[in-house]
Amino acid sequence: MSSSRYWELTVEIPEEASEGLTNFVWELGALGVVEEELPGRRPRLRAFFPKTVVARALEESVREYLGGLRELGFPGAGEPSVVALASQDWADAWRAHFRPLSVGKRLLIAPPWERPRTNGRVVITIEPGRAFGTGQHPSTLGCLERLESLLARTVPPWLIDLGTGSGVLAIAAARLGVVRVLAVDDDPDAVASAMANAARNRVCDRVRCILGDAGALEESGAPLVVANLLTAAHLRLAPRYARYLAPGGALLLGGILDAEAAGVAAALGGHGFASRASMSVEGWTTLELARAPLHDRA
Ligand code: SAM
Repeated sequence: MSSSRYWELTVEIPEEASEGLTNFVWELGALGVVEEELPGRRPRLRAFFPKTVVARALEESVREYLGGLRELGFPGAGEPSVVALASQDWADAWRAHFRPLSVGKRLLIAPPWERPRTNGRVVITIEPGRAFGTGQHPSTLGCLERLESLLARTVPPWLIDLGTGSGVLAIAAARLGVVRVLAVDDDPDAVASAMANAARNRVCDRVRCILGDAGALEESGAPLVVANLLTAAHLRLAPRYARYLAPGGALLLGGILDAEAAGVAAALGGHGFASRASMSVEGWTTLELARAPLHDRA
């Protein structure tokens, strides 16, 4: 056996269970995790582990976790398999998944090991790590595209990014001209990753990353708030969005399944927001709303 072995765990997993399993494998010590959706195949999760992990114990832990999910009523996942990889295979498999990606008209999201041809685009360098927001997920892509289009119309002096993850939206906003971005996440790993990515993109002076709950900020009067969270969070946070935003300010919400979008827009309507635009990327809707100017409010 080569001394430079890694383990690769592969398991087919229904979308509903993917986030839970991803967190679980990070906790088991994964070095990298990718969720793959290939045409004509069930989605699968691939996770890479160092040789110090005991392969059989890893497989058993994942099987047990999936059994627990089944008991909770989640659809069945496939059988986990763990195979050995040479170190170069692991690096190649990991890197092959993260390619530079053009987004909208002006952005290019790239991992740090790539030196892509920019063709005049603004490069956002993101280290694919534990935090959500490598730029590959359709909800991130939708938010980036709408954010870029909003900022093409007018660049606000500051904004709040709720659930910043890797910091990708906050960093994109800063690189597109916003001079002050407050980036918030309740996961310490995400905050650490957002700070590292902000440094990588040389926008530390513009992006302030803080650990905290999206519903517990003191801020108000923001001209723009972006939040790529899930529908349940948007419904819970609707009154807070109204508090954070200045009258007439814009709210960009991601992480909404297409079928939930009308319900989210209607719920936000009850808090003084009007829908301005929406876009769907692979089943995920991004909603752009405006908070009513004061004179329109009851
Ligand atoms: N903004 C990134 C993007 O667009 O790719 C990451 C979005 S990811 C879907 C959601 C992030 O929100 C995660 O990093 C999660 O830790 C964070 N989050 C979830 N609920 C939160 C809350 N109540 N307060 C703060 N952060 C939260």
